[in-house]
Amino acid sequence: MSAPISEAFTALYGRAPDGVWAAPGRVNLIGEHTDYNDGFVMPFALPHTTVAAVSRRTDGLLRLHSADASADGTAGTEGVVELRVDALAPGTDPHWTAYPAGVVWALREAGHPVTGADLHLASTVPVGAGLSSSAALEVVVALALNDLYALDLPRWKLARLCQRAENVYVGAPTGIMDQTASACCTAGHALFLDTRDLSVRQIPFDLAAEGMRLLVVDTRVRHAHSDGEYGKRRAGCEKGAALLGVDALRDVPYDGLDTALAGLGDEDEVRRLVRHIVTENQRVERVAALLEAGRTREIGPLLTEGHASLRDDFRISCPELDTAVDSALAAGALGARMTGGGFGGSAIVLAETGDVETITKAVAAAFAAAGHTPPRTFEAVPSAGAARLA
Ligand code: ADP
Ligand code: MG
Repeated sequence: MSAPISEAFTALYGRAPDGVWAAPGRVNLIGEHTDYNDGFVMPFALPHTTVAAVSRRTDGLLRLHSADASADGTAGTEGVVELRVDALAPGTDPHWTAYPAGVVWALREAGHPVTGADLHLASTVPVGAGLSSSAALEVVVALALNDLYALDLPRWKLARLCQRAENVYVGAPTGIMDQTASACCTAGHALFLDTRDLSVRQIPFDLAAEGMRLLVVDTRVRHAHSDGEYGKRRAGCEKGAALLGVDALRDVPYDGLDTALAGLGDEDEVRRLVRHIVTENQRVERVAALLEAGRTREIGPLLTEGHASLRDDFRISCPELDTAVDSALAAGALGARMTGGGFGGSAIVLAETGDVETITKAVAAAFAAAGHTPPRTFEAVPSAGAARLA
């Protein structure tokens, strides 16, 4: 991958890049919407990556180009976009360029002397599919600048700066999971992340060796209204924590859930949100324990339980996601759930290797029968986190 991208960089900027970096998209195995409740998540990295060829500049110019600029849906940034690093301001750029520019802004705001760069990007991460193309884009830029400017920042700190870029510069409210996954995952593992203290644990997740596969079903429904709904869920969770007198819903123990729910009076909507978060945190811990004990097949029912909780309590599924999950289970999947923010995006399916073809066909047939756009189904092998390629 690094040779063609270097050539494209040279054709654009008239010199070879200083280096080439890659950062992956991710799938969340379990732990949905827990990351803004100080809870647990367990993503793993996809083999799909965003690759960046980058050179340093010392004249204050930031030049950006993406082979996938048109995937943004906003026209006008297909060529090289030129910005000044000292003129970067949050909330001013509606285009894809806000993601890399936001990373430069966040680094400079944190006191790191980034004086410009030329960047060329190319990605195989599906955009807007809930597989975190945005975090892949941020993290690849952060890692490249970290190396080129010898900033020596640890991975978790790069993830934090990328989250700040997305929250403040781009203006999209997200937790810390996506950026940490892209920066910190390792091949053959899922990443147990405690979003309160950012401690991580690499959990063995080598499915092929155990005769299983994990499929991603991209429903191709793009999460158009998800920002507003995300904000509502987030506010509801904060209200729940306040009513229960805890810093975050993470602090409501699973053992004390019934008492906590009873204490919420007539706040039915908050009660449902609280129940999802508390049971979901417990599911992440149970999945981690099963994987660490080598009992991988047994995580299937927990994934399916997680879907029911997101559908019925958190209410962020959609007909296409439910069709994917229900048809996969009916065709013999070990477990299935929606993954990512909800209202579209992708579902994941855990299956015996020998059942993959039957399940893939059954899901496609169910989509056709329901009149949905055909889904895109592919296998997700737990892959490496961000790295320098050349
Ligand atoms: P997701 O992270 O689930 O893919 P987001 O809406 O968070 O969806 O991020 C998608 C946005 O990120 C795109 O609309 C685009 O602005 C930007 N983006 C991601 N990857 C690229 C890329 N390779 N080139 C240009 N823009 C990209
Ligand atoms: Mg995103």
